[in-house]
Amino acid sequence: MERTEQLYEGKAKKVFATDNPDYVIVSYKDDATAFNGLKKGTISGKGVINNKMSNLMMQMLEKKGIPTHFVEQIDDRNTVVKKVEIVPLEVIIRNVAAGSFSKKYGVAEGTALLNPTIEFSYKNDDLGDPLINTYHALALGLATKEEIDTITKMAFAVNEAMKEFFKHLNIDLVDFKLEFGRFKGEIVLADEISPDTCRFWEAGTWDTTKHVSLDKDRFRRDLGGVEDAYQEVFKRLTGE
Ligand code: UDP
Repeated sequence: MERTEQLYEGKAKKVFATDNPDYVIVSYKDDATAFNGLKKGTISGKGVINNKMSNLMMQMLEKKGIPTHFVEQIDDRNTVVKKVEIVPLEVIIRNVAAGSFSKKYGVAEGTALLNPTIEFSYKNDDLGDPLINTYHALALGLATKEEIDTITKMAFAVNEAMKEFFKHLNIDLVDFKLEFGRFKGEIVLADEISPDTCRFWEAGTWDTTKHVSLDKDRFRRDLGGVEDAYQEVFKRLTGE
């Protein structure tokens, strides 16, 4: 499938039209941002890893019965996906306290949560993606009740599948962000699943005082070894 005009350029990806109106091509960049774009940098090789990893995750989830936007990988950085209308919600699932959850609720990073949690942010860069609840989402017309119910069910199902999957790679899935889209009346999992959007901790080696991050926290927190961490996750996934 051929790329035609560029439709959009985001922080980590570009989106191109194709000759099929139902499909677009996503092109993954090495650019990295954090803190709503305040911190900028490059993670060499990230685009290739995130493209391939996200596609593997989407295919794994499809096999578990979760509909996704994935169509076909073209090459190292480019993938054909369904042209969805993105639901303007960032859906965050957590298994272990970290990041903004730890700060907001005063719980040490690395504290296991008694149950997985879900939260929604209004996807809006100008507002800094504010946390909202489902009533806010309905009041703002961001999604319908049925869509929010479907998204919630799918997000927890993704969590169960991914937790199990990463356990076999000796990685604990601490938390992650999902985005969903509408395609021909159906809600499908969209965007990406990668070390940019998940917290991956080396299994069994952490407590509430220290952990080894294999994800974008190495960039956000200037921990060093950013490229190596992405490469390590990818190696465990594929053997490459
Ligand atoms: N996350 C993301 N994009 C965002 C915000 C969060 O992919 O714009 C992911 C992040 O990588 C982590 C999870 O969502 O895996 C929870 O992030 P948190 O709310 O703790 O925010 P942070 O501490 O990263 O500011």
